[in-house]
Amino acid sequence: MMSFELAEERVTCPFCWETITLLIDPSESQTYTEDCFVCCRPILINTEIQGDHIQVSVTQEDLGF
Ligand SMILES: [Zn+2]
Repeated sequence: MMSFELAEERVTCPFCWETITLLIDPSESQTYTEDCFVCCRPILINTEIQGDHIQVSVTQEDLGF
């Protein structure tokens, strides 16, 4: 049975500037949208998996990368 752990990464919401914790799937780099837990606005999230390191970028969904 395959198992993998989600990685926790702290980012700053680009809308309300609160620090929130995202659960990142470390198996592949991806771009997706997730609502901020604090202000509920859509955050565009880009994850880049580089070996053991996860690079996370966030921006406002309307702006894109
Ligand atoms: Zn927010």
